[in-house]
Amino acid sequence: SDDGHVPAAPRRTPAAPRRAGTYRTFYSEPLTVASAQGCTITDTSGIDHLDAYNNVPVIGHSHPAIADAVHAQLLRANTHTRYLDDIVDAYSRDLLALLPQHIESVVYTCSGSEANDLALQVAAYSSMSSGVIVARRAYHGTTSATAAISPSLSPGPRDHVVTVDIPAAEDPDFEQDLADRVRRAAAELERRGHGTSAFVLDSTMTSEGIVAGEHVRLAAAVDAVHDAGGFYIADEVQAGFFRTGAWWGYEALGVAPDLVTLGKPMGGGMPIAAVAGPRVVFSDFGGQQRYFNTFAGTPAPIAAAHAVLVTLRDGGFGERVADAGSRLGEGLVDALAEAGVDGRIRRAGLMVGVDLRPAAGDDARAGALAEEIVEAMYARRVLVSRTGPGDAVLKIRPPLVITDEEIDRLVDAFRGALADVAGTGVRERADG
Ligand code: PMP
Repeated sequence: SDDGHVPAAPRRTPAAPRRAGTYRTFYSEPLTVASAQGCTITDTSGIDHLDAYNNVPVIGHSHPAIADAVHAQLLRANTHTRYLDDIVDAYSRDLLALLPQHIESVVYTCSGSEANDLALQVAAYSSMSSGVIVARRAYHGTTSATAAISPSLSPGPRDHVVTVDIPAAEDPDFEQDLADRVRRAAAELERRGHGTSAFVLDSTMTSEGIVAGEHVRLAAAVDAVHDAGGFYIADEVQAGFFRTGAWWGYEALGVAPDLVTLGKPMGGGMPIAAVAGPRVVFSDFGGQQRYFNTFAGTPAPIAAAHAVLVTLRDGGFGERVADAGSRLGEGLVDALAEAGVDGRIRRAGLMVGVDLRPAAGDDARAGALAEEIVEAMYARRVLVSRTGPGDAVLKIRPPLVITDEEIDRLVDAFRGALADVAGTGVRERADG
């Protein structure tokens, strides 16, 4: 999976060796990529699939600006990070200009996991505490420290981690309810002797089933974290770089982060991620501890990141993502209504969740329904996946360059998938 979130293995296929163990491919018949352009992935049989799931190639697959920038940089120099290089300076300045004023420094890593790991280290050092508050199904990475704060990946209880249930997006008291839970979590961490080092939250709360909307605000929860002496770390690995129609997902939540972590779309497919925050926080940390990462922030991936940033900055993406997201959201709502399926759309820009729990009696049934729909859309050559409680929320997250025609094709495939599953046992059980 590209987000560490691993839906249950498909039921129709016997376990093949390639899907055994910890790593799983998507779909009952895995997709083998021959080439990819824009929002289209062509498989090795020559079949085109509409990619409505990938947020790494945020400006489209195989974008020439990225290929050209990396090619030119590799022919100029790609040394390691003990030397300076103008492209790294230029990119850092351009990136920091997009973040709040108090975010003055950036440190590069190769993955979102490493970025969150470093953010945790920095927060623990500055707060002199070790306790972390995360959402119940959070996913923040695969290193030991980030796996420990990722209950969706490794659910075992950890003494220094307290989870909070994220209120429903529709809850008009969302902000206060979340703040109360965060305050209680901080008190519990204090009781356990850890104190509160950080509250880490994915800004679109993707693995909670995508939580977005007018009531979804964080200011009171962040006040609670600050009162407890902790940092609010905005995990923008999924939500950043215009996914939500703004540069950063937290902008819609009415807060500014103390530390922000970036990744995934940042390099358009090249391994580059980052943690950014106030200069003093990094200099204090650096005065005591060292951080070195051989490949992170080397010029070639930074050149890719620069091409992504410039393309997004100059490409009118704010408006485009808003329009495309509305068209997609409305199309999905209509398709659900036509099929008589009680699903709930939650959306931030082009991060779209279709929650099928209202359509089914329980999470497991809704998850089975979601699985059928994902497979039925795959059969119609449209790639989506699922997330959230019981894996019952369809996760639709196309490259931001998706055209109106492609959105209509996506919605048609969804309509067709709903018709396909209407005759299956799953849907009947769900209806029952
Ligand atoms: N945070 C979030 C919210 C993520 O979705 C992911 C991965 N999808 C990560 C962190 C980890 O990033 P990476 O896979 O680059 O280590």
